[in-house]
Amino acid sequence: MPFQVTILGSNSALPAYGRHPSSQVLQAGERLFMLDCGEGTQMRLAECHVRPGKLEAIFISHLHGDHYFGLVGLLNSFHLLGRVRPLTVYAPAELLPILELQMRYSKGALSYPLEVIPTHANGLNTLFSDHQLEALSFPLNHGPTPTTGFLVRERAGERRIQGEKARSLGIAHADMERLRLGLDVPDAAGRIVRNQDLTLAPWKPRSYAYCSDTAYLPSLREVVQGVDLLYHEATYAEADAHRAADRFHSTARQAALLAADSGVGRLLIGHFSSRYENLAPLLAEAQAVFPATELALEGQVFEVEKREGE
Ligand SMILES: [Zn+2]
Ligand SMILES: [Zn+2]
Repeated sequence: MPFQVTILGSNSALPAYGRHPSSQVLQAGERLFMLDCGEGTQMRLAECHVRPGKLEAIFISHLHGDHYFGLVGLLNSFHLLGRVRPLTVYAPAELLPILELQMRYSKGALSYPLEVIPTHANGLNTLFSDHQLEALSFPLNHGPTPTTGFLVRERAGERRIQGEKARSLGIAHADMERLRLGLDVPDAAGRIVRNQDLTLAPWKPRSYAYCSDTAYLPSLREVVQGVDLLYHEATYAEADAHRAADRFHSTARQAALLAADSGVGRLLIGHFSSRYENLAPLLAEAQAVFPATELALEGQVFEVEKREGE
């Protein structure tokens, strides 16, 4: 089951040098989620060969245009395509009247149920939690604009049965579920077999954190500690740190400092300023602090591999 992020857009503010405003798609197994939806996102979906029909939720970090101006277009296209599957949008509360106004003057009802659930930039909040995944929002520091990051992580799975071994000992079909739950079971002769002799630990749950836009916020490490993949905005190079501070953005070096501080697996940097055509200096700056850094280049897919649990 894949757990991967496709970068649709990773520029800040203006489209430039073939780069687009923010949007990403997270695929977790069969489930699809979108993170931010800048202008042009639906064209980027097609160009990146992502089929959005299965999208179940869209997370909007804040209401600067480069993070949601593509939303109403995408919602409208779903309607024109006859979508019936419900869609949830998690976003600052002010998005709802904006969407209502846009919908009211363009047409009537959508072909599918749309629910807009407000996010609150006041602490760590659970957006949803089910048997596979949980999604949380957490506050970023983007000055006066309420902004949240998002954390999506897999729930702990069940133990994995070593099928051949279990069959060779004649474990009853009815006992397989007990094995998955970690219980010991009898073999065909009625002898108790220890669970660890027949199962492997569950896969390690995978996690992704999305932090855009924000000034350098060292306390984020409490939230993103140990995530497999961290996306953190890196609007500016360190030489422009004063601009980053003025506009509540981060430098590439600051993104890397947070990654190093938080013990994450890998760092993706993005939300690049249109000041930079060449992104190599931003990458070098971040890698000097946190070597496992990559540029969130558009069209690229970043996968978190399955790993053995303990
Ligand atoms: Zn932005
Ligand atoms: Zn912003």
